[in-house]
Amino acid sequence: MKTIQYSDVVQAHEKIRQHVKRTEIQTSQTLNNLLDAEIYFKCENFQKTGAFKFRGALNALLNFNVLQRQKGVLAFSSGNHAQGIAYAAKTLGIPAKVLMPEDAPKSKIQATQAYGAEVIFYNRYTENREEIGKRLALEYEMTLIPSYNHADIIAGQGTAAKELIEDVGELDQIFVGLGGGGMLAGTLLTAKDLLPSCEVYGIEPETGNDGEQSLQAGKIIQIDTPKTIADGAQVTSLGSLTFPIIQKYVTDIKTVNDLEIKQAMRFFAERMKMVVEPTGCLGLASLLKYQSLCKGKKIGVIVTGGNIDLERYAQILTLN
Ligand SMILES: *Cc1c(COP(=O)(O)O)cnc(C)c1O
Repeated sequence: MKTIQYSDVVQAHEKIRQHVKRTEIQTSQTLNNLLDAEIYFKCENFQKTGAFKFRGALNALLNFNVLQRQKGVLAFSSGNHAQGIAYAAKTLGIPAKVLMPEDAPKSKIQATQAYGAEVIFYNRYTENREEIGKRLALEYEMTLIPSYNHADIIAGQGTAAKELIEDVGELDQIFVGLGGGGMLAGTLLTAKDLLPSCEVYGIEPETGNDGEQSLQAGKIIQIDTPKTIADGAQVTSLGSLTFPIIQKYVTDIKTVNDLEIKQAMRFFAERMKMVVEPTGCLGLASLLKYQSLCKGKKIGVIVTGGNIDLERYAQILTLN
């Protein structure tokens, strides 16, 4: 099997750049003063569909052959991958079906449907979505695109770091939220090529530290679905494609707890006027937690997404 490399990220960028937003870089003088560092936020919360997942989804669909385009794409996700796939499919005129738990947030179901995908429901407590996904893909002859363990997804996600580095130049460190590792793996391939001495950290919720465990064990460790407000990182293991890249290149994997995530969310809202979903706050939360690590450094942080129900957002910010 061909290994994924930075040239795949470059190719992905050429293909997707006419459709994706080159998201802005934001800074906060207050934060720079507080941390005695120079922080650059790559705002994928402003990406189309509200998260970076659109990049990888679009790249995957652009690599479909004629028959695949005709038959369409199938995805299972209750979160941002569903919306990324749905919107990418709409952009390219490809049919899409998305398998979602019947108790998924209404706003996410509606957004996915509004982008033109057909939503198929399953019971997440009694049914296995991977089995259903495989069966449906076979039945409809659709191509199943997973949310992180796929070469085109990894390459597509790496384009956010490519833009970040092109826009701000040299960086000492990059901080990236970690779920299944598509974003981290793509970022690592990019940073290793463009800035070989830049450190790259993956940040996980404390309760879902399978990445940290995997790195220590030297093999993929599987955990139960973690309890955390960072729903985009409620993943039970890294992937067979993402883990080797992470193992080879990551500087370290660090964790933050829900309270630390909440404090970062509040900072984004109060100081930077940005609505960032809990999983999108992992990077900033880790900077606030590991301040001695970043003192005096020039740092890039990928703000991975901003999709959250307003009621839930208000609840998280106001309750303790
Ligand atoms: C999917 C997602 C992540 C994690 O990305 P992986 O590629 O699965 O590691 C982080 N933040 C947000 C907002 C996401 O949607």
